[in-house]
Amino acid sequence: MIRLRNIEKIYRTDTVETLALNSISLDIAKGEFLSIMGPSGCGKSTLLNIMGLLDTPSNGQVQIDDQATTALSDKQLAHFRNRKIGFIFQSYHLINDLKVLDNVELPMLYRNSSAGERKQLATEALEKVGLSNRIKHFPKQLSGGQKQRVAIARAIVGKPEIILADEPTGNLDSAMGNEIMDILLELNKTDGTTIVMVTHDENMARKTHRLVRLFDGTQVQ
Ligand code: ADP
Ligand code: ADP
Repeated sequence: MIRLRNIEKIYRTDTVETLALNSISLDIAKGEFLSIMGPSGCGKSTLLNIMGLLDTPSNGQVQIDDQATTALSDKQLAHFRNRKIGFIFQSYHLINDLKVLDNVELPMLYRNSSAGERKQLATEALEKVGLSNRIKHFPKQLSGGQKQRVAIARAIVGKPEIILADEPTGNLDSAMGNEIMDILLELNKTDGTTIVMVTHDENMARKTHRLVRLFDGTQVQ
């Protein structure tokens, strides 16, 4: 599903050059749930952003679903990303002045679906994360765990084959974190969604199929 070959990422400014990723090669199978761990600054977010086509590597190849992505234009990349990949972030990234339902509908605005279809898909996604009773609330009226559930609903509304989650439980206490983890495990098991999750929590990582550890941009496990 995701194939990385000799991925290198160098961040350059006028004075500093940082090798953030050093020749990472990784194959992630369809239906796999992979976690990525490692100390702060080791390249986890950079790797996830490259997998998610939010950022491009300095060298190396990214293949998603047998499509070599280096050949795609920015517009094609955006289209591909919108269809295939759902993102979840530690700090939710919800739009505060949109109601829950409207937040979840957002990714569908880029598609040619009618308002009725958008509403139905968003409602279904919110049912899946157990938030049907909060669709008219605003994000600030929700707990952290509920906000993250809205973010998951937004990530899955377009039925992506891949979910990329950057520390999805990082801001949550362990009870709420476990709830979020259970939803991700269920999406992986029931829908066969491929999931890659960055985490600092060994307990969360242990529940996934495989763990990759990074240190200073290099894969050490
Ligand atoms: P992690 O997610 O593991 O904390 P990151 O992928 O965010 O690590 O960062 C990896 C390295 O790349 C760090 O040394 C960081 O300082 C550097 N880095 C990340 N983003 C940028 C950027 N936009 N410009 C320059 N350096 C960056
Ligand atoms: P976290 O909540 O995990 O701290 P960040 O704010 O660090 O997340 O975002 C992780 C990365 O994803 C950043 O490089 C950011 O630029 C990028 N990003 C965040 N939100 C979006 C978005 N909606 N679309 C595209 N890129 C995004």
